[in-house]
Amino acid sequence: MTGESKQGRSPTLSEQWSRVRGRLRTEFGDAAYKSWLQPIRLGGVRDGEITMNVPSRFMREWVMSRYADRIRALWRGEDSSIRSVSIAVDPGAAGAADDGGEAVATPARAAFTPTPPRGAAASVSRPFVSALDSRFTFDNFVVGKSNEFAHAAARRVAEAAREPFNPLFIYGGVGLGKTHLMHAIAWHIRTHDPERRVIYLSAEKFMYQFIRALRFQDTMAFKEQFRSIDVLMVDDVQFIGGKESTQEEFFHTFNALVDQNHQLVITGDRSPADLDGMEERLRSRLGWGLVADIHPTDYELRLGILHSKAEQLDARDIPPQVLEFLAHKITTNIRELEGALNRIVAYATLVGRSVTLETTQEILQDVLRAHSRRITIEEIQKRVAEHFNIRVADMHSARRARAVARPRQVAMYLAKQLTSRSLPEIGRKFGGRDHTTVMHAVRKVDQLRESDPGFAEDVDLLRRMLEN
Ligand code: ADP
Ligand code: MG
Repeated sequence: MTGESKQGRSPTLSEQWSRVRGRLRTEFGDAAYKSWLQPIRLGGVRDGEITMNVPSRFMREWVMSRYADRIRALWRGEDSSIRSVSIAVDPGAAGAADDGGEAVATPARAAFTPTPPRGAAASVSRPFVSALDSRFTFDNFVVGKSNEFAHAAARRVAEAAREPFNPLFIYGGVGLGKTHLMHAIAWHIRTHDPERRVIYLSAEKFMYQFIRALRFQDTMAFKEQFRSIDVLMVDDVQFIGGKESTQEEFFHTFNALVDQNHQLVITGDRSPADLDGMEERLRSRLGWGLVADIHPTDYELRLGILHSKAEQLDARDIPPQVLEFLAHKITTNIRELEGALNRIVAYATLVGRSVTLETTQEILQDVLRAHSRRITIEEIQKRVAEHFNIRVADMHSARRARAVARPRQVAMYLAKQLTSRSLPEIGRKFGGRDHTTVMHAVRKVDQLRESDPGFAEDVDLLRRMLEN
């Protein structure tokens, strides 16, 4: 797939490079792009090998381990004669970004020189700070069983004059509100106690700043800038797993801040003890204060969040069944839940029609399909067996007594409804039965549902349990 240019000439290397970069940016997101990919400079091409330069060894390692495969694939997409991509270290490769527009926020040197005096307000300059999302406040955070502990801890930190526990380490899966809580702490302190200096940044950014400091041999200023802060919040600390020099620096910064009674708030995707590639002493240090986890959401919390978001979006006329439906269906994380709601609201606004359950199902077809695919036939068999009080083994057995044959048919029916498996595949999972047996089961259950409301209710209940 060679890119075309307007005149029909073949694209230049730099045009191809700019497309590759465009793709990388879309695929990995702005933050990763700016930190790791934008600084890459194109060297040239020779004998099917593209050379690229990065400013430091550390950066080379990082880019090699995370992005090299993708970069290679994208280059090959541009030009199939390219066989390999090599990444070399060239300290001179740093400098003004050449793709115009919003480049690296501030030229690196400006961020670190001249060395600011300790505590100077100017020292906490823009490049350190990741922007705060104005929606991520305590007011907008809906509290439920799964997050009440983390929420209470975050509030304590935000409201306490002295650090109540240090560090506060919050962990949990993707999209469950860790970043939201951190921003909420920052907003709270900013509005109630503007004198206190609060810094929020991702671990990736911390690392990036540190590398730049190394590159410009300005680590002193780097250290000072962090150590003159009252509250330091580092998000997604799992990113510095395996990066020894950054861990080392983080550890020292960490110790210095804790020793001076400055508050630290850290998040990760797992508990300190389980962080991979993390040095033992750093892991144990991270777990010193209070460790609070956020659990996966339950239905009530999801529904609460949807109500609150619908209100924020000024979309109060969405029928309650639609919100309930979403809360049932989209269980993985809150970000996806929000995304689904946004789509429905956007649709209603654009098309000027009110939202119904049917339109919702239509608009969200792709999302809903992705979610139902996760139900496995094994789960269905287990649930159905439990429900009818038979052994799971009877799902596979040849027994034909009604007491086991009927539940088996129900399970086949649900497998057809809730998974994307074909009839022969389903048959195989039920003790190697023929696809016509499955077809028969589906028809039979359909008939029974029509003639026996009690039975229909039973099947629907099972279905809902499985879907949630
Ligand atoms: P994480 O950092 O854990 O991956 P985020 O904090 O980015 O997750 O949350 C993802 C999205 O879900 C954000 O838009 C956030 O506002 C929203 N969200 C998460 N938890 C809640 C909650 N309890 N109440 C309201 N919104 C929430
Ligand atoms: Mg986050």
